[in-house]
Amino acid sequence: MDIKSLIRDVPDFPIKGIIFKDITTLLKSARGLKTASEELLEFAKGKHINKVVGIESRGFIFGCLLAEKLDAGFVPIRKPGKLPAETLSETYTLEYGEDKIEIHKDAIEPGDKVLLHDDLLATGGTMEAAAKLIERMGGEIIQISFLIELNFLKGREKLKKYDVHSLIQYDSE
Ligand code: AMP
Repeated sequence: MDIKSLIRDVPDFPIKGIIFKDITTLLKSARGLKTASEELLEFAKGKHINKVVGIESRGFIFGCLLAEKLDAGFVPIRKPGKLPAETLSETYTLEYGEDKIEIHKDAIEPGDKVLLHDDLLATGGTMEAAAKLIERMGGEIIQISFLIELNFLKGREKLKKYDVHSLIQYDSE
């Protein structure tokens, strides 16, 4: 099935000039949801991953589905002030502005084999910051996966040392 056709472009969201890739149109399709999660699972299975780390908020959706299928735990990375216990944080530059992400200090054990997942790779700033957090905690990043990759923003260049996979690519806006 062509899951790319289920992604909706929303121009000028959240600010003028950004074409937002809306995945809700894929999520609401039972076949779309199943196909996308099965294809993401193909990248990650058999690699002894024991933690899947998902990035707020759309990274939680497939991140959780993947964790359950891989018999791994799920760990959320969130925007500042959302996680209740002690956190570690990283600041980064986003396609639209600057932001910070946090993870619970006790979420990753040294030696954990981690799959990092988010819905979309744009400039790569968010995922680069997430990878730094995991490595500061002694986690081993086995794979990084995305549902969507905007090739023209070259985010992959920031993640060169990792095994990076994406299901849907766009070569231009
Ligand atoms: P970046 O750090 O530039 O790679 O941006 C990735 C993060 O911003 C992801 O968590 C995405 O959900 C979000 N994002 C950036 N650009 C877009 C876009 N055009 N459409 C939807 N989400 C986006």
